[in-house]
Amino acid sequence: MPPVPKRRHSAERKGKRRKSLKLKLPTSKRCPNCQSLKQTHQICPTCGQYS
Ligand SMILES: [Zn+2]
Repeated sequence: MPPVPKRRHSAERKGKRRKSLKLKLPTSKRCPNCQSLKQTHQICPTCGQYS
């Protein structure tokens, strides 16, 4: 007999497992060139500056 899980994991249990993953919000900082909020390691959408 193959090892089969007795019970399917509930949605609650899945959510508990994944909640820690969602804690990390996208890191955004102010552009040193134009002071507009932008994502780090990405080209600034306002002035095109990469920092
Ligand atoms: Zn900028």
